[in-house]
Amino acid sequence: MDLLKDLQQKAQIKSNNRIDRDITELFYHSKEWRKVRKEVLARDKRECQVCKSLGKVTIDNLLVHHIYILEYYYNKRLDIDNLVTVCHSCHEMIHDRYKVNKWKEDEYF
Ligand SMILES: [Zn+2]
Ligand SMILES: [Zn+2]
Repeated sequence: MDLLKDLQQKAQIKSNNRIDRDITELFYHSKEWRKVRKEVLARDKRECQVCKSLGKVTIDNLLVHHIYILEYYYNKRLDIDNLVTVCHSCHEMIHDRYKVNKWKEDEYF
């Protein structure tokens, strides 16, 4: 399976229920997010899972990405199966590069 392609496709899927940016920002500052983020990092052994799928080990510039994006799938915000550890450059490839500014604050820690 091509993990990168899979993540790129899922990041494009929108629901009819778009959540306001203020709410997603609040979420990124919540205790619940910090807790689940740690769980995901531990599960993924602090490695970029996309790089890993390509046989590379990347342990720097990591972030936790929402597979079905937070803005449209707010109910999956703390669903560990909807979260994956990736590195900054893989994250840019997952999201549309032209919209990279939109994701500037997305999921970083
Ligand atoms: Zn990577
Ligand atoms: Zn993301």
